[in-house]
Amino acid sequence: MSQARAPGRLDGLPPAGLCGSCAHALLNRTRRGPVYLRCGAASSDDRLPRYPRLPVVACPAHLPLADDSPADGRA
Ligand code: SF4
Repeated sequence: MSQARAPGRLDGLPPAGLCGSCAHALLNRTRRGPVYLRCGAASSDDRLPRYPRLPVVACPAHLPLADDSPADGRA
């Protein structure tokens, strides 16, 4: 399984809502194809689901990506 930061639009996933612009969002891509968006902050914040149901429309831990962050989530 590979892991990368999630960009705003994610091929193969429903619209991600806030997760699509969040620095905590990670993509877990399995070898067989399915892609899962994982919340990287969930391990230290009990309020957050490890695999959020998309689209996320409200989140207490949303951390906006900086404008200059590389969109390297597409594999
Ligand atoms: S902190 Fe919230 S918005 Fe960010 S990835 Fe986790 S669930 Fe999504």
